[in-house]
Amino acid sequence: MKIKIALVAAFLLTTFAAVAQQAQVEPSATELQKHVSYLASDKLDGRRTGTAGANDAARYIAAEFERLGLRPAPATDSRKINVMSARYLQTFPYIGRVDLGKNNVLSVRGGETLRVGEDWMPLGISPNQKLDLTGVVSAGYGITANELNHNDYKGTYSKTQAALIQKGTPDGDNPHGKFTTAGQLRFKVAAAQSAGVGALLIISSEDNLKDDALASLRYDNAGLAGIPVAVISKQAAAKLANAKEVTLRTDVVRADVPAHNVVAVIEGSDPVLKDEYIVVGAHYDHLGRGGEGSLAERPGEIHHGADDNASGTAGVLELARVFSAQRSRLKRTLVFIAFSGEEEGLLGSNYYVNHPLTPLDKTIAMINMDMIGRMKDGKLSIGGVGTAKEWRQIIGTGETFALTLNEDGYGPSDHSSFYMKQVPVLFFWTGNHSDYHKPSDTFDKINYDDEARILTMVARIVRDIDGAGQRLSFTTAKADPPRGGGFRVYLGTIPNYADTNDGLLLDGVRDDSPAAKAGLKAGDRIVKIGNRDVKNVYDYTYALGEMKAGQEYVFEVMRGGEKLTLKVTPEARK
Ligand SMILES: [Zn+2]
Repeated sequence: MKIKIALVAAFLLTTFAAVAQQAQVEPSATELQKHVSYLASDKLDGRRTGTAGANDAARYIAAEFERLGLRPAPATDSRKINVMSARYLQTFPYIGRVDLGKNNVLSVRGGETLRVGEDWMPLGISPNQKLDLTGVVSAGYGITANELNHNDYKGTYSKTQAALIQKGTPDGDNPHGKFTTAGQLRFKVAAAQSAGVGALLIISSEDNLKDDALASLRYDNAGLAGIPVAVISKQAAAKLANAKEVTLRTDVVRADVPAHNVVAVIEGSDPVLKDEYIVVGAHYDHLGRGGEGSLAERPGEIHHGADDNASGTAGVLELARVFSAQRSRLKRTLVFIAFSGEEEGLLGSNYYVNHPLTPLDKTIAMINMDMIGRMKDGKLSIGGVGTAKEWRQIIGTGETFALTLNEDGYGPSDHSSFYMKQVPVLFFWTGNHSDYHKPSDTFDKINYDDEARILTMVARIVRDIDGAGQRLSFTTAKADPPRGGGFRVYLGTIPNYADTNDGLLLDGVRDDSPAAKAGLKAGDRIVKIGNRDVKNVYDYTYALGEMKAGQEYVFEVMRGGEKLTLKVTPEARK
């Protein structure tokens, strides 16, 4: 008996000791380094959404969730999948492959037929159309920028003409030149559309068309262009220059590839409050080997994305470990999400908030961590403090960081998607650095000790929200003043950046803004401004750049199947 009691006592003691120990789990720099060095390794090839590297990262995160004892979200769409870790994946549509179709034609009547792939190539963003053109007009760099007093489209054009333009800008390749924005491909397309031509042909800067990045059939998941767009060789351009009858037919096949958010939950223990949710998230995708979004000097190198955002992903995994060990203390349910498609425009989080796996109206807060690995001198920026009445008090001054607090709930990362659904958000960020979006953002440059301290603060904030009797009270935040450049006019619209070809969807409209006064609402789709078609966010941004404050513009808007006409008067930017 005694021995037995002693054994039981010993067992109880070790159990209690284990519980006591569990309660003291803190974010660990060693664990963070383990995650970041894997996620940012060459093996994952830069984790570009839709690639094998990104999918390996998703599997790693799912396996960690499983190992830590987290459960898949109750409504995961892939519940029937037998492989346990696959049940943590939420798949969303993503075009990751572009191939040439069979029906590409560029020919001059009475002249020769130009060879696709050799003499010309449609772009991945090009719609499939057949055009009988009456001519090709040269239009310089194809840039129209009112504020720079530059206009390459001086004539009157028709849909049966194609514009022939140079790559680059009058500034050359200067990445900090004044034409950087107006010279982007998407804005050149918008300028051509707006000028009224039916197609855009861009002359290659390379002697061999195949060496031109434009010929690589990429798609940015931001909607098709409104007119066919192709790159053509210098020789082909010369042949087209004086042609009178040109046939252009584009045929591009865009294919979905798997892209996944990774979602896991720790259920709360309060019988009532467990139906409220706190989301802790970070994006795990990055830029792969460059392309859209890259600031690298040379193409083709692996962009490791250690700070952006293996650091935040490791943060999600560490917080999952910390809270899994203290799960009995949680009242509410925690939802951990690693998003993909962030770099392409918040695609994963955008999909998630429109297909949530736990109810969004019962989601009381979303905490986003994006680039939290490069803390210097204790500087930490927290965005979204204007999105709940209680945030400033909860953030408090308990921790010894040099805090910069920003009100706005919108910003360049996944918390925006939740804020537009009226969820209070916080956005943790340790600031920009010279390795941002370059191959040199590597794991050895991460400040793991300070990242662990940040996570200790985040964990404390999560406990405070979780322990409160009342849920946070959502408030609409003041917008931060626009940083640098930007537009001269202000509308107060919040565009949706997801893939679209049929107008610009509004995620929201700021209170008391010109857009709100004109009657624009979240969910509206802007299809026309003046006589300009708006197919996607670039067309919209371009139109905004051409507007003048105080002048009235007619917006054509689709709302619930109905076409509305609204008059919008932009204000000057303050
Ligand atoms: Zn990034």
